[in-house]
Amino acid sequence: MAQTTTNNFSTDTPQVTPPSQEHTPPTHAGVSGGEAATLIDGKATAAAIKAEIKAAVAAMAATGHRAPHLAAILVGHDGGSETYVANKVRACAECGFRSTLLRFEDTISEAELLREVARLNADPEVDGFIVQLPLPRHIDEQHVIEAIDPRKDVDGFHPVNVGRMAVGLPAFVSATPKGILELLRRYGVHTSGSKCVILGRSNIVGRPMAQLMSSKQGGDATVCVCHSHSSQLADECRTADIIIAAIGRPAFLKADMVKPGAVIIDVGTTRVPDASRPRGFRLQGDVDFEAVAPIASMITPVPGGVGPMTICMLMQNTLAAARREYYA
Ligand code: NAP
Repeated sequence: MAQTTTNNFSTDTPQVTPPSQEHTPPTHAGVSGGEAATLIDGKATAAAIKAEIKAAVAAMAATGHRAPHLAAILVGHDGGSETYVANKVRACAECGFRSTLLRFEDTISEAELLREVARLNADPEVDGFIVQLPLPRHIDEQHVIEAIDPRKDVDGFHPVNVGRMAVGLPAFVSATPKGILELLRRYGVHTSGSKCVILGRSNIVGRPMAQLMSSKQGGDATVCVCHSHSSQLADECRTADIIIAAIGRPAFLKADMVKPGAVIIDVGTTRVPDASRPRGFRLQGDVDFEAVAPIASMITPVPGGVGPMTICMLMQNTLAAARREYYA
């Protein structure tokens, strides 16, 4: 039996105006002139977007539409997953959404979980839902992802949404890459014609990021995807106007791999032991921030860069689901 928590309250979000200046990444080295890199503030940008979403929800209410409703399935008690889901539930409240958290012990069978997915698929009161990953080893994640109705797949992991995005059709797009593109846009980074190197080729970050950055409607950039078998990785990075690092290797991207003036997006969030922190660890990105920031023109911090945007884009996807924007 699931433990269920529902909320339908909302809280005030701060009004933050994100920067809108045009920024063209330099195409040759040495143009940063020793100026400090602009810190790309994902937290402030996410707060601004959540305020926009909240206003959209109020407009829906004014026309008699109920609040968007996101459900989340959480299996087991993994510390990271607990934190991510709690943050998603909090973001729902900030946007004026209703949220429902369904908790199951990690002894739940795949068949039982698939029944819960089918139940949410059929529930007209639920606009979108997520199954928090990872799942226990005895459950095939792909079976679960493919059981979700693509019209409610607000994580954008279902092959139907992945395929629709790939051919430029309206679709739910994986929240992390979508959030990165939004950050680049809101900071005025001129991506068209730029060279973008993406480190990592996972289904949830690297691959969809490459699709978004190379598509005409997206970044319109020339994209190079590097992974653990790439032999010229450092050389590729040195030619990049934009580097998006998503490999989960703490401080992997060093200063000598970065062209001066490049825009650096750090997706990595690895917990590294830190006795000075109350929780005994801190989050470390894939970028050697201290060394790379003086060379870059713009850079995201960890935490406070990509992470807040990921949750915010999940809210945007849920709003789109409630408005039936991508599917009739
Ligand atoms: P993943 O599924 O483990 O994929 C990692 C990718 O990095 C793989 O493609 C792998 O190559 C590549 N890789 C690993 N070591 C490498 C190396 N030494 N050189 C080059 N490539 C290497 O990871 P993920 O889910 O994409 O996540 C990546 C990082 O982003 C993690 O730290 C994760 O916690 C973080 N993340 C953050 C957010 C956020 O909201 N901030 C969201 C999602 C993920 P192969 O394919 O060859 O194995």
